[in-house]
Amino acid sequence: MKELEEFRKSVRSWLEESAPESLKGKASDPKAIYWGGKKSPLPFPDSKFWMEMMAAKGWTVPTWPQEYGGGGLSKAENKILTEELERLELPRPLTGFGITMIGPTILQYGTDEQKEYFLPKICSGEVRWCQGYSEPNAGSDLANVQTSLTDDGDGYIISGQKTWTSYGDLSDWIFLIGRTDWEVKKQAGITFILMDMDQPGVNVRPIKLISGESPFCEVFFDNVRAAKKHILGEQNKGWGVAKALLGHERIMIADVFGSTKSPAKEAKSLKDNATLYIGLKDGKLADSSIRDRMVQIQMDETCFDLTVQRNFDNMKAGHNPGPESSMFKIYGTELNQRRFELFLSILGPESLGWEGDGFLKDELQLTRNWLRSRGNTIEGGTSEIQLNIIAKAVLGLPTK
Ligand SMILES: Cc1cc2nc3c(=O)[nH]c(=O)nc-3n(C[C@H](O)[C@H](O)[C@H](O)COP(=O)(O)OP(=O)(O)OC[C@H]3O[C@@H](n4cnc5c(N)ncnc54)[C@H](O)[C@@H]3O)c2cc1C
Repeated sequence: MKELEEFRKSVRSWLEESAPESLKGKASDPKAIYWGGKKSPLPFPDSKFWMEMMAAKGWTVPTWPQEYGGGGLSKAENKILTEELERLELPRPLTGFGITMIGPTILQYGTDEQKEYFLPKICSGEVRWCQGYSEPNAGSDLANVQTSLTDDGDGYIISGQKTWTSYGDLSDWIFLIGRTDWEVKKQAGITFILMDMDQPGVNVRPIKLISGESPFCEVFFDNVRAAKKHILGEQNKGWGVAKALLGHERIMIADVFGSTKSPAKEAKSLKDNATLYIGLKDGKLADSSIRDRMVQIQMDETCFDLTVQRNFDNMKAGHNPGPESSMFKIYGTELNQRRFELFLSILGPESLGWEGDGFLKDELQLTRNWLRSRGNTIEGGTSEIQLNIIAKAVLGLPTK
C-alpha cells in the first residue's frame, strides 16, 4: 500500500510539472487523441511532445512489458496513472490499432524477433497500423478472402483488394489476411501477415461517407511484397490468429463505444440536456417516459462498465479474449445506439440539423455522432454474426 501511495505521489508531481499546460483540460475532446505514425494529423501542437514524454516512461501502453517499450505497470499502478491523468483532464497520449489490436495479437502469437521489432514501434508511436480484413466479397463471410499471397522464396507477392479499411490513408503498416492455399477448406488456406504500406503497388483510395468524413479506404495491392518473417503464426494457420485479433477488437469496440468511462459526467450531460430541452415540472423532468429511459440507460451503463472492467482484469491476468468477446461487442454497441436515440428524443427537432446557423455546434455534432453510432453494430462483425458466434461457440447450441 505504501508503495502505491509513493507511486501516486511521484506520478502526480511529474504530471503536474511536466505535462504540457496546453493539454490539461482537453481529455473530453474526442479530437484530442493522437494516433502516431508518419501521416496522422497533430490534434494540438504539443500532442507529439506529450506522446514522446509519456513513451519515454513506457506510459503510452502502460501495462505492456518494459522490454518492448511498455510501462510494465501492475493493474493497481495503471489505475493510479489513469486517475492522475483524469485529475488533470489530460488526454491519453496515444491510441490506435497497434495498441488495441495488432499489439496484443503479436504478444500472443509473435516470435521473439517480431515482438522486439514491432512492439517498441507501437509504444513509441512511430508506426500507425490499419486492418486489412474485409474485401468486396468477404465481410461477414470473412474466411472467403480472395487476396492472394504467392510464395516467392523468402516472401509473398500480394495481389487483391481490401475495403472499409479504417484510416488506410493515414497508416504506415497493415495487418492482413490472404490466401496461400486455394485447394483446401477456405479457413485452412489463410495466412496472416504484416506488411509495410510504403511501397509501389499499394494504392489507397478514401471512401466518402454520408457524414461527410472519409474514415474508410479501399486498399489495392498490385504485386506488392511482404517478408515471410512477418507472418504471424504459421502459413495457412492465419484463421486462428485472425479470430484471436477479433477478440481483442471486439473488446476494444465494446469499451470505446459502450462504456462511458465517466458515468457521472455522462449522467450530468444527459440531465443538463434534458433539463434544457424538455424542462422541469415539480422539480422533475417533465416527460416521465424520457425519465424512465434515462434511468434505465444509466443503470445499464454502470453494470456494463463493471463487467468490462472485470474482463480487463482477467485479460491482465493472462486470459486472452475468446468468443465471449462477442457478448461485450453486441451489448456495448447496442447500448451506445440506445444512448444516441435517447439524446435524439431529448433534443427533438434540434437534433436533426446538418449545418447552418439555426443549430448550435453541439447539436450539429450530435447528429453526426448519432449517424456514426449506426456503424457500431457493423464494424468488427455485425450483430447478427455476433449472435451466431454466441449461439455456437459460447452456448454450444447445435448446428446443422
Ligand atoms: C465503422 C466501420 C469500420 C470498419 N473498419 C474496418 C477495417 O478497418 N478493416 C476491415 O477489414 N473492415 C472494416 N470494416 C468492415 C466490417 O468488418 C464489415 O462491414 C462487416 O464485417 C460486415 O461485412 P459486410 O459489410 O461485407 O456485410 P455483409 O457481410 O454483406 O452483411 C450484410 C448483412 O447480412 C447479414 N449477414 C451476413 N451473413 C449472415 C449470416 N451468416 N447470418 C445472419 N446474418 C448475416 C449481416 O449481419 C448484415 O446485416 C468496418 C466497418 C465499419 C462500419
